[in-house]
Amino acid sequence: MKDGTITLCVFCGSRHGELPAYAEAAQAIGAGLAGRGWQLVYGGGRVGLMGVLADAARAGGARVTGVIPQSLMAREVGHRGLDELLVVPNMHVRKRRMAERADAFLALPGGLGTFEELFEIWTWRQLGYHQRPIALLNSAGYYDPLLRFLQDTVTQGFVSGEQADMLLVDADPQRLLARVADALRNGKPAPDLSLT
Ligand code: AMP
Repeated sequence: MKDGTITLCVFCGSRHGELPAYAEAAQAIGAGLAGRGWQLVYGGGRVGLMGVLADAARAGGARVTGVIPQSLMAREVGHRGLDELLVVPNMHVRKRRMAERADAFLALPGGLGTFEELFEIWTWRQLGYHQRPIALLNSAGYYDPLLRFLQDTVTQGFVSGEQADMLLVDADPQRLLARVADALRNGKPAPDLSLT
């Protein structure tokens, strides 16, 4: 939170998905974070929801940083219209750079890469490596089956209720951003990620 400016790290799909609701959600989160005066750090691509998110955030006046591995510059089409595009040697450095800059994390609909990023940052919090808010936007019920399964992981005794409750879940983009803002106001000061 340099100079008091909040940076939100967003994980999201490199595809658009089937429903227009997903791109609308990416647009709303980009515009919404900009409206709050926040900055965005994300995976740096121009494809899929990543591009929609970054363009909306920039259009709203947010500073946008992308972090992309050299090997994915072609596949995810590194976004040249950002305030900053960090081209890094590999995926591990990408995730480290994104996490280092983030005050909070938010996942939009996405695929395997999005799941991996969300679950990694969630496990880091479970282990106490950071205390930052983690949010999931459940647009058009996309994550309903996952959320049901996560409930089962608690019922079946593999995840504690406290661990499950760390994830802020909402279907409404503005309400979710407001809950992230509340969590940032009420949360403990974030220590550096020592895992990375
Ligand atoms: P996807 O959700 O699969 O469309 O991917 C969304 C983003 O996650 C893309 O920028 C991918 O490069 C990224 N990604 C894919 N695999 C991983 C991984 N193992 N760790 C971190 N990010 C990944």
